[in-house]
Amino acid sequence: MFEKILIANRGEIALRIQRACREMGIKTVVVHSEADRDAKYVKLADESVCIGPASSALSYLNMPAIISAAEVTDAEAIHPGYGFLSENADFAERVEKSGFVFIGPRSDSIRMMGDKVTAKQAMIKAGIPCVPGSDGALPDDPQEIISIARKIGFPVIIKAAGGGGGRGMRVVHTEASLLNAVTTTKTEAQAAFGNPEVYMEKFLENPRHIEIQVLSDDYKNAIWLGERDCSMQRRHQKVIEEAPAPDIPRRLVDRIGDRCAEACRKIGYRGAGTFEFLYENGEFYFIEMNTRIQVEHPVTELITGLDLVQEQIRIAAGEKLRYRQRDIRLIGHAIECRINAEDPFTFVPSPGKITSWHAPGGPGMRVDSHVYAGYKVPPFYDSMIGKIIAYGSTREQAIHRMQVALTEMVVEGIQTNLDLHRELMHDPSFIKGGTNIHYLEQKLAEMFPENER
Ligand code: ADP
Repeated sequence: MFEKILIANRGEIALRIQRACREMGIKTVVVHSEADRDAKYVKLADESVCIGPASSALSYLNMPAIISAAEVTDAEAIHPGYGFLSENADFAERVEKSGFVFIGPRSDSIRMMGDKVTAKQAMIKAGIPCVPGSDGALPDDPQEIISIARKIGFPVIIKAAGGGGGRGMRVVHTEASLLNAVTTTKTEAQAAFGNPEVYMEKFLENPRHIEIQVLSDDYKNAIWLGERDCSMQRRHQKVIEEAPAPDIPRRLVDRIGDRCAEACRKIGYRGAGTFEFLYENGEFYFIEMNTRIQVEHPVTELITGLDLVQEQIRIAAGEKLRYRQRDIRLIGHAIECRINAEDPFTFVPSPGKITSWHAPGGPGMRVDSHVYAGYKVPPFYDSMIGKIIAYGSTREQAIHRMQVALTEMVVEGIQTNLDLHRELMHDPSFIKGGTNIHYLEQKLAEMFPENER
């Protein structure tokens, strides 16, 4: 096992990884920007290295600075968390070439999954059902593009091969607007991702977002750890996640889960990963794979009893998976609310000093957050300041616990989206379960017609 791990991230996930390491008796090095100098996990680290100014481009995305920090502190492995460099194949490669272990998949797996066209091709080959669409990137010939769209049937969605974070997608309802949409998406994709390649998919009208968590080791052992329902989204960003997904026949989930584990064996995947699907009318359609730990991993931890970050570390250290599929039991239900520093209904970010902070507690409650009273939320990064996760033996109990938790939770000094969560935890459709990916935006549009942009 490693003696010392460098954590190349910030915020709640930096603290989460640090906790996993400390529990395992592993020393931690935290790298941080000038803006994060006073963070709690920086003080709790065995060593910390300031790697640059507030701007992420000069700090959390600064590969040479991170690798030098690992060199001067004698860290053996680097955990990238999520976001920042976690899915950057070049970074993974540079880490390994510099003699450190990257806690994640091999760089070629990251590269393959980072390009959605090659990812989809690999998944089709591995027997994973995909959204019907173009075979690979769209050709240049307008006639060919039109005939691909006719074959798929409108509406279609044009997506950037290099896209991510909900950007680089355009829905097209009519043939008349198709070619323009393709050209615009290509131009945007080149500007945003440095890759003009786009592909086409059938646009599913009312899907749910269901994802499968996998773990696999270097010896072709792979398991899946249940599913998560992340359909409560705004602008393709998840707001609430839960596990298991309400109201989907277990045999359908089991079948897709087994296929994901099988696909990991086929492509020689290593580490933790997530297969993301759209689910509509009893069918799963693969959209992408995330080759890292995800924000919503705690809901899976609560229903399986596993510590996913520790499993990532064990796998990276070359250990064999300690579980077989039959050891995995999904017990109870877990729900996660992402707490963001933002106006609850206009979503304008609200950085600044937190003057009071009271986290909820009690049975079945987990709070993953790096903030505290007196903490200043910097304006430079993602607005998520923590997550509250409720566990219950049933979905109903998890919802009740979350409702209570949200009445206990107090954050003052900045605005947060707590009121939105309070509203959603009492929303009859959420309580019933099984809402689709458009539900939250439709609800917000009804509540605030004046916000319609
Ligand atoms: P990103 O990598 O940017 O997150 P994804 O491919 O995972 O992109 O898609 C993000 C979201 O976009 C999905 O959760 C879904 O809401 C929507 N989406 C993507 N593809 C389709 C599709 N074929 N039909 C309907 N919605 C889609």
